[in-house]
Amino acid sequence: MIIVMENGAREESITKVVEKLEENGFSIHLSQGVERTIIGAVGDKSRLADLSIEAMSSVDRVIGILAPYKLASREFKSDNTIIQLGDVNIGGDEIQIMAGPCAIESREQALEIADIVKRSGAKIMRGGAFKPRTSPYAFQGLGEEGLKILREAGEAYGLKIITEVMEPGNVELVAHYSDILQIGARNMQNFPLLKEVARFDKPVLIKRGLSATIEEWIMAAEYVLNGGNNKVMLCERGIRTFETYTRNTLDLSAVVVAKQLTHLPVIVDPSHGTGKWKIVGPMALAAVTAGADGLIIEVHPRPSEALCDGSQSLTEENFNKLLINIKKVANAVDREAVQ
Ligand code: PEP
Ligand code: MN
Repeated sequence: MIIVMENGAREESITKVVEKLEENGFSIHLSQGVERTIIGAVGDKSRLADLSIEAMSSVDRVIGILAPYKLASREFKSDNTIIQLGDVNIGGDEIQIMAGPCAIESREQALEIADIVKRSGAKIMRGGAFKPRTSPYAFQGLGEEGLKILREAGEAYGLKIITEVMEPGNVELVAHYSDILQIGARNMQNFPLLKEVARFDKPVLIKRGLSATIEEWIMAAEYVLNGGNNKVMLCERGIRTFETYTRNTLDLSAVVVAKQLTHLPVIVDPSHGTGKWKIVGPMALAAVTAGADGLIIEVHPRPSEALCDGSQSLTEENFNKLLINIKKVANAVDREAVQ
């Protein structure tokens, strides 16, 4: 439930409410808006009636949140969350473009792509070092070596980096090298992993599971928020349907719904969402129209030689052409992109 404090409530009154709730076993998450403070209290609801919180000084009202997610909800925080990553804001006016290969293949490949990403105006480079592959015989990624290369590429070109972490025991390692921790679709409900990334002061991007409902996806975010990390963003990357023409069915209505239900930035991955490079561009534009706060796009200088996901990777030329259109569409919906 949430406790809405009166406009301009004094620090002292807020502390009293927080202390009373904590003494009674509630865990507290504060949302300090410009005018109002909202106290999120997670715990045994039945105990609340005895506490008379509503009668305490400067408490405006106590509201139960019906949805199973609390901290992710718009009721808890009505303003959009903006994640600050140095000079890069995710969830603000600017639509952030994250681009790069499916997998880091070599130092040369990573530096070549970092150069492409930098010149395009995008600010975040993607690239997998630990790859969740369907086949154990497929390229599994370069592991820590890949993380080192990605870090070097990011630093050489002044780009932030995002990469996937697949297991709880590797979070510390990945967090050491990466600016953003990516939870892959296959791990969206790996609860020990979600709890572990919550312990780090790094933004987390949570991909929607292959067969996850929107509510389950938001609940994954709730795990990270409840663990104390409020830099969480959601990523729609397509879901499994009866359709086989595309690799997945990119559910753009989920972007609209997630923006309505939560305050979290929502990113769209049209690469995994479609599996075919010719469909990536139009769906990226549609995602911007639907309200996406960012796009994560696979780019490779020679897609036919890529060790992973070449068929959905854009060449430099196609990526740059797409960015021109992304800018136009962004402006049409009162956003900015690749300034
Ligand atoms: C990826 O982005 O590298 C990836 C494996 O995506 P997903 O988890 O969405 O399949
Ligand atoms: Mn991929």
